[in-house]
Amino acid sequence: MSVPLLGLGRPALEDWAEAQGQSAFRGRQLHDWLYAKGARSLDQVTVLPKAWRQQLQAVPPAGANDWIGRSREVQRSVARDGTTKLLLATHDGHTIETVGIPAEGRLTVCVSSQVGCPMACRFCATGKGGLQRSLAVHEIVDQVLSVREVMDQRPSHVVFMGMGEPLLNSEAVLAAIDCLCTDLGMAQRQITVSTVGVPKTLPTLAERSLERLGRAQYTLAVSLHAPDQRLREELIPTSHAYPIEALLDDCRHYVAITGRRVSFEYILLGGLNDQPRHAEALARLIRGFQSHVNLIPYNPIVEEDFQRPTPAAVEAFRRALQERHVAVSVRASRGLDADAACGQLRRRHLEQMPASPSHG
Ligand code: SAH
Repeated sequence: MSVPLLGLGRPALEDWAEAQGQSAFRGRQLHDWLYAKGARSLDQVTVLPKAWRQQLQAVPPAGANDWIGRSREVQRSVARDGTTKLLLATHDGHTIETVGIPAEGRLTVCVSSQVGCPMACRFCATGKGGLQRSLAVHEIVDQVLSVREVMDQRPSHVVFMGMGEPLLNSEAVLAAIDCLCTDLGMAQRQITVSTVGVPKTLPTLAERSLERLGRAQYTLAVSLHAPDQRLREELIPTSHAYPIEALLDDCRHYVAITGRRVSFEYILLGGLNDQPRHAEALARLIRGFQSHVNLIPYNPIVEEDFQRPTPAAVEAFRRALQERHVAVSVRASRGLDADAACGQLRRRHLEQMPASPSHG
């Protein structure tokens, strides 16, 4: 098996070491260095025999420059509130964004699941550049380790809300969740997977989660953003192929299989979908649904002239939902002074580069 070691659990590392003609004990050492010690390259794992390391380094695995499989930090941007955005380079010369968001007693890591994104939601900076490729398991786990290293703090929460559509890379996402829980000791309940909805994937995700993880206790967040199909298609062109009723049916199916309620994300765009009538329609749409609505005030991106909602509109929307017995919260904007919406740090970086980023 010629894949980077990051992402493999203890039994797989033991098997790998034995397949290399070493004892299983070497696999357990590697586990400690990969996850507890955060080794960046095989050079640093000095407990392993030097001859073996040299022999391995002569033949790197597919998909990485080094057997460990860590990324390289290209740029760091720290906001006044401590929110830290990292631009990380993959072995093939792509860049991805990952964000560490500190709050009382917590550290949330916002991870990317793809390089770019094919979904092209109109308000999203990442969507403007299309998809380059999906990330491998080690590239997802690496983001959490990179934030841990830079912020010198153990991440408590992980949200798949960075670049990409997780449901277009669900096997790697589930493998990464397994690794975060089994090898880094995180709790599944502290992990959130956010999707804008891909036809025919939610029931499969529910079943695969049970098979792969034994249980599905992470939170599924669905980016709804509109209370009806017409407005949703305006904001999310790909939703044309996935009627809002079919999406909600699939969410109900997901709840039935996993026993977990889902949460709905709703971006508030000033004057467009933030009026009281939209809140009323949303409450009607999800009536009787075991769910939670998370309101996200729009973070401006340069490519579009959507407006941020006024604080009064946000509050009125929240209250209208609450009065209709919908569990609702408003996401605080974090790190706005650093570089605004997710995906923007990377886009600015790409614009400043003389040549294409894919020079790998
Ligand atoms: N593709 C997934 C996950 C990535 S986006 C999804 O769509 O859910 C994570 C969340 O950030 C989504 O709810 C998305 O709609 C939201 N988002 C994207 N661009 C934004 C912006 N400019 N301002 C506020 N939220 C944004």
